[in-house]
Amino acid sequence: MYRKNAWLKYEDKKEVFDFAEQYKQFLSVAKSERIAVKEAVRLLEANGFVNAEEVAQIEAGDRVYFVNKSKNVAAYIIGTDPLEEGLRILGAHVDSPRLDLKENPLYESKGYALGDTHYYGGIKKYQWTTIPLALVGVVCKKDGKVVEINIGDNPNDPVVGVTDLLIHLSADQMEKKLGKAIEGENLDITLGSMPLNDKDKEPVKANILKLLKDKYDIEEEDFISAEIEIVPAGMARDYGLDRSMIAGYGHDDRSCVYASLMALLHTKEVKKTACCLLVDKEEIGSVGATGAHSLFFENTIAKLFRLFKEENVLWKARLTLENSEMLSSDVSAALDPLYAYVSEAKNAAYLGEGLVFNKYTGSRGKSGSNDAQPEYYAFIRRIMDEANVNWQTAELGKVDQGGGGTIAYILANYNMKVIDAGIAVLNMHAPMEIVSKVDVYEAYLGYKAFLVA
Ligand code: MN
Ligand code: MN
Repeated sequence: MYRKNAWLKYEDKKEVFDFAEQYKQFLSVAKSERIAVKEAVRLLEANGFVNAEEVAQIEAGDRVYFVNKSKNVAAYIIGTDPLEEGLRILGAHVDSPRLDLKENPLYESKGYALGDTHYYGGIKKYQWTTIPLALVGVVCKKDGKVVEINIGDNPNDPVVGVTDLLIHLSADQMEKKLGKAIEGENLDITLGSMPLNDKDKEPVKANILKLLKDKYDIEEEDFISAEIEIVPAGMARDYGLDRSMIAGYGHDDRSCVYASLMALLHTKEVKKTACCLLVDKEEIGSVGATGAHSLFFENTIAKLFRLFKEENVLWKARLTLENSEMLSSDVSAALDPLYAYVSEAKNAAYLGEGLVFNKYTGSRGKSGSNDAQPEYYAFIRRIMDEANVNWQTAELGKVDQGGGGTIAYILANYNMKVIDAGIAVLNMHAPMEIVSKVDVYEAYLGYKAFLVA
């Protein structure tokens, strides 16, 4: 059961480092699910994929994609086998934990303009204080105009942040439990401190509103129909003196998004129709129109049958899903040497040991888990070994230590074969997450081998 370090596979590590550079660029740009989807579409189109809603007919070899509400993508390479014999699916999620501005976010207090937030996904709140944060998202105006906001990533931009108390004044705070020391309602961002001249009521907030009006032509009421996300500012960076790792925001799950997307883009012909599915809302339960529970994905397959000029498209879509095989490409928690006690060493993911398979996730007796069929797992093992992919197996921490889930169980509802396969992450859900460059590359190789096997 010995697992070799994936770096040892490479004499010349150039291909690994080159791939990592491309990924760093993607991660540095794709700060929100919308931008991740926009980048995905740009990359798909640059690689010969066309919008399926704009074609009249399809045939084997065609490359098409569907986009759902700017936050959810299904891209396909049509195979030579009949569609209803099933797909090979790589499914990853584009959303990451963050702070969201509320519908009525702006207020002034003690000479500061502040923005009220509601956090999205599972975060340790103290990790989000006193770090530079950026604002990304959209403001949708009543006239139908969608204004894109992106402040804080350009080195010339200002940044915002959440303040925290000076240690010398923290006697009360330091007595609190870690989970209570920073309250959710206190994760408000500081937006400004300069009053507008000749304004008596809330002059600092008025000045911020004037800036927003001048630059973006938006009013305070427009925040009602907006999605502004507050995310760590700045680019993804090399991590470690040996540059073996990448520090950045959103590796969960944009590392798997990128590896899955590249695997599809770099695949030519396939027997089984290949699919890369990018979903939103995983961090809050895969709910809503753009989450994995949405009928969007199933509908895209029905639409493919329509483009084949077939009848009974919904039934055929169901049949196709039942005959499909999937890698649920989501990240795994890497064993942290400083907190090794939460992991069980022989069933833990190690940074640098390659693509991680989780037969099951879940918590307290595998609750909520997909638990892949061993027959399917054996089939996957063969594919990985024949393609010389460095891979490892893991579960999320020790039994009864905690747990988690992915989208695997949702797609498994179609009675398809699904197993979790992703990249090991240190500091998962923190503003600065860490992955190994070689793991990102092995995931890409593993995903590619799966699509063509
Ligand atoms: Mn995830
Ligand atoms: Mn997550």
